[in-house]
Amino acid sequence: MVEKIWDNMPWKIDTEKFKRFDQKYTMFSRTGWDPEIQTMAKKTVESVIRNIKKGNRSTLLDYALMSAGWWVAMKSAPYQMDHGDGGLLSWKSDISPVFTIASALWNENSELKREREKFQKSIEKNPDILSRTVKKVAKYFGADLVGIAQFDIRWVYSHRILNPRYHLGEEFSEDPLDLPEGIKYCIVIGIEEDYYMQETADGGVSMGDVGFGYSKMAIIAGSLAEFLRALGFTAIPSGNDLAISIPYAISAGLGEFSRMGLLITRKYGPRVRLAKVFTNAPLVPDRPIKFGVYEFCLKCKKCAEKCPSQAIPYGDPEWEGDTQSNIKGVYKWYVNVEKCFEYWCRSGNSACGVCVRVCPYNKPVDKASYYIHAFFREYIAPIVGGEIGKKLDDVMGYGKRKSSSSWWGFDYREIVSKTKED
Ligand code: SF4
Ligand code: SF4
Repeated sequence: MVEKIWDNMPWKIDTEKFKRFDQKYTMFSRTGWDPEIQTMAKKTVESVIRNIKKGNRSTLLDYALMSAGWWVAMKSAPYQMDHGDGGLLSWKSDISPVFTIASALWNENSELKREREKFQKSIEKNPDILSRTVKKVAKYFGADLVGIAQFDIRWVYSHRILNPRYHLGEEFSEDPLDLPEGIKYCIVIGIEEDYYMQETADGGVSMGDVGFGYSKMAIIAGSLAEFLRALGFTAIPSGNDLAISIPYAISAGLGEFSRMGLLITRKYGPRVRLAKVFTNAPLVPDRPIKFGVYEFCLKCKKCAEKCPSQAIPYGDPEWEGDTQSNIKGVYKWYVNVEKCFEYWCRSGNSACGVCVRVCPYNKPVDKASYYIHAFFREYIAPIVGGEIGKKLDDVMGYGKRKSSSSWWGFDYREIVSKTKED
């Protein structure tokens, strides 16, 4: 049976063919067990060293920023692409007893318990208050967009990786994934990526921005989950682990699905990273929004033309993708993620991001011209369509790559080569 996923969008599910996605088949997981992908991944080291030596696109300075950007994510939430539940993304509160005031909240005190029960009862009658509060707190912690989706088991991985040390050569293993009972909602957090850093994709300082996006995902989702747990609710923070983020983001009203396989938001276009918090707290779900992305993508195809690995489809949406890393039984655009990943490894420019840079929905939000683009997006684009919209975007010069020296404010290569001559 074929079902629409959202009433106001064209995306559908074939309930006979659809299966929850097994995390084992994500590209990152496949580096742990698939010899073909392991061979691709091995190229990365030589690509990075070659880039640094030639100073081509990405320099030592850019890679240093990338390493620093990933620092918090790797040190404190290393499992956000694997099994989750560790460091900042722990499923349980593990406040250090050294911090006496916060750890007092986890005391088995009957008055504390009674206060939590009273609060929870009052919130059951006023879920709108908690919804507003959660959004306010998420924004305070650094979220740029927040929405609430109804929990939907279809997008939760069927299995999750058990041993994240497979990257270090240990055996790859996985287990069926069970979230705690009673989860009702998924709070979806959108984090803006920097327009000017993403202008340098692929490579350059865009790599640091992507890495720091992952660090922020862990900080914001982990902190928001702790806020809800301290109020007595179950709250499970998640980065790329546990579930596919985009369908939740669409349900939460953050944006629409696109040809390049990413979420397109109204304000930032595709320039966002997503994190989520699953919870049993009573909340009011948001509604999916539609602002013409599907119709624009049908004709635009700029991402497909500019993709260096030709991984993005030019045709209409389909029922299946070309690789085992694509979900089955969903009518949508499928990116060939093997081609995409192979390019990342071959180029040594992590996360590429050319598709994000060139998309006409990607515009700077700190300029007065943003309002002209917003007007165009809402009122003109639906009339002129994606083909003309893309041409206008090209004429205005959007989407061109800039070197990272434009962001640093000096040319790293020039300084280093001058020093050598001395
Ligand atoms: S570049 Fe064009 S086709 Fe690709 S996602 Fe953006 S709007 Fe859609
Ligand atoms: S990240 Fe790069 S290689 Fe991958 S789909 Fe986008 S443009 Fe293509």
